[in-house]
Amino acid sequence: MNVLIINAGSSSLKYQLMNPDTGVVSAKGLCERIYIDGRLTHNANGKKIVKDIPMPTHSEAIQAVLSILVDPVEGVIKSTDEIDAVGHRVLHGGMEFFDSCIINDEVIAAIEKCIPLGPLHNPANLMGIRACQAVMPSTPQVAVFDTAFHMTMPPVAYRYAIPTEYYKNDSIRRYGFHGTSHKYVTKRAIELMGRKDIKLVNCHLGNGSSLSAVKDGKCQDTSMGLTPLAGVPMGTRSGDLDAAVVQFVMNKYGMSADECLNMLNKKSGVLALSGISSDFRDIEEGAEAGNADCTLALDKFAYEVRKYIGSYAAALGGLDCLVFTAGVGENSASMRARICQNLEYLGVKLDPEKNNVRGKEAIISADDSKVTVWVIPTNEELMIAQDTAELVNAAK
Ligand code: AMP
Repeated sequence: MNVLIINAGSSSLKYQLMNPDTGVVSAKGLCERIYIDGRLTHNANGKKIVKDIPMPTHSEAIQAVLSILVDPVEGVIKSTDEIDAVGHRVLHGGMEFFDSCIINDEVIAAIEKCIPLGPLHNPANLMGIRACQAVMPSTPQVAVFDTAFHMTMPPVAYRYAIPTEYYKNDSIRRYGFHGTSHKYVTKRAIELMGRKDIKLVNCHLGNGSSLSAVKDGKCQDTSMGLTPLAGVPMGTRSGDLDAAVVQFVMNKYGMSADECLNMLNKKSGVLALSGISSDFRDIEEGAEAGNADCTLALDKFAYEVRKYIGSYAAALGGLDCLVFTAGVGENSASMRARICQNLEYLGVKLDPEKNNVRGKEAIISADDSKVTVWVIPTNEELMIAQDTAELVNAAK
């Protein structure tokens, strides 16, 4: 089976052609500068090619992807009939979607209804869906939501303590993001631990970071909120802060709400604290060279992640398993060690040698650690492909 995975942004579109049973990716690439001029970067058969192709809309971008996939020289399939299904990443499923689903007119209407919650991403995701429907009308399409995994949270976790009308009228609550990644590592953790009834905390630590608390495979809480701004500090996002900071800064500097949120989303986080970069590799290098601001940025990040782990152990009533994933979680042994410092009271004890691992599945806790600590590389595309295949096969 071949699943085409599409992640459509406002002016870009990423794609992968994957076998959901083996996880083998036969081709992947990126369309950029849609609406401007158009450029396709395509990786297949061990080589990368870049082509300028006019892409006045997402439809031409999808058409370019299909053309290159069936190209006799650069392609990997003979005809688009060999694409059995398309899986679309959709950012916000609001309160409409608790799981992935096959796309029909009602699903499209419900994704449209969620636009106020994901004003930048949902319209782009819909453009990708509509473009695929136009050029491959008989191929089943599936929507996989970044929020869906977290929809099992209880009200104590998802309700904000603000007047109820905002929840009832405007659906303002905690949703959480990176759900496809949290779902994938949860599935792997359950497989690797050999049982489902585990109390699990997942740390997805990358440029964007979020944690989730999971019991019996179901999400109980997560650190991002109505938007991805909440939670731990990130590459450029502030994470949690006193909402009155917004009022103070807006009043003092004459900023609009949008300008202030732009500052919190794009100019804050470890970029602001380190003063040099949002990239953890640069910051680790700076700290090693004696830059105190870089050390503060790393310590602050580790401190906030550690606080979330502690609060989620309290929320779950214990902790059996801790998972690190995404760019920083998979690759930075020093950040994992920094985070796990002082967590021994919870039963978390890293083995420094086992922790010296990058980008592969491994236990990094000591043999006598009560909590099993894992590095599990995330694979959101595989999760999308598997969800898509499962739904399409079930509907046959
Ligand atoms: P992601 O958003 O999951 O792609 O993660 C991207 C982030 O991972 C980048 O900002 C890097 O700072 C970080 N990263 C990748 N490799 C390493 C590494 N070897 N050590 C520290 N951080 C890393």
